[in-house]
Amino acid sequence: MRTLLTEQELNEGVDRLAKEIDSHYGADRPLTLIAVMTGSLVLFADLIRRLSMPQRIGVIQAASYRGGMRSGELTVDAAMLIDVANRNVLLVDDIFDTGKTLDHLTVLIRDLGAKSVKSAVLLHKQREHVVDLRPDFAAFQIPDEFVVGYGLDYLDMYRNLPYLGVLEPAEIQATADQAAS
Ligand code: 5GP
Ligand code: MG
Ligand code: MG
Repeated sequence: MRTLLTEQELNEGVDRLAKEIDSHYGADRPLTLIAVMTGSLVLFADLIRRLSMPQRIGVIQAASYRGGMRSGELTVDAAMLIDVANRNVLLVDDIFDTGKTLDHLTVLIRDLGAKSVKSAVLLHKQREHVVDLRPDFAAFQIPDEFVVGYGLDYLDMYRNLPYLGVLEPAEIQATADQAAS
C-alpha cells in the first residue's frame, strides 16, 4: 500500500472542513446532515462531532462502483432517509469523482423540498467531471488514482484503514481472494 494521506493529515483535513462548514452555517441554526453510505461512514462520524450547530442526522445509500474500481450505473436507496422538507441540508460523501453521485442526490433532496442543499467531501479528485456541480466544501484535492481507506473500499474491504492509500498491483489480486472468503 502506498500512503497518500496519513492519519494526521486526514485529521487536519477534517478539522479544516469542520471549520469551513461551521463558519458558513453558524452555530445557532439546525443543520440536517445526510451521510452518503457507505463510503462517508468514517468521515461522517469524525465530522459531525467537530461541528457546533444543532444537527439532525440521516443516511442515504448510493452505489456506483459495485465490486470494482470503475464507475458504473448509479443506484440510490432512500428508504432510510429522514424528512428534509424545508431544511437546510448538507450531503456528506467520501469523494467527488465524476460528480454523478452528488449531482443526482442534490437534485433528489431539492425535489423533496429542502430549503437548501450543499455538499461536503473529504476528497476532490482532479479529473474531468461530467457534471456542472462542484462540492461546496472539500478537504483535499487528490490525483486521479483509485484510493482506499478512511471509509473508502475496494470490494468492501479497507474501509477501516486510518490512512488513505493506493493499492499495489499485487494487493489488488490478493484482495479479490480475501474478499471471497
Ligand atoms: P462519482 O459519482 O463522483 O463518480 O463517484 C462517487 C462515488 O464513487 C464515491 O462516493 C465513492 O464511493 C466511489 N469512488 C470514486 N472514486 C473512488 C476511489 O478512488 N476509491 C474508492 N474506493 N471509491 C471511489
Ligand atoms: Mg460512495
Ligand atoms: Mg465503493
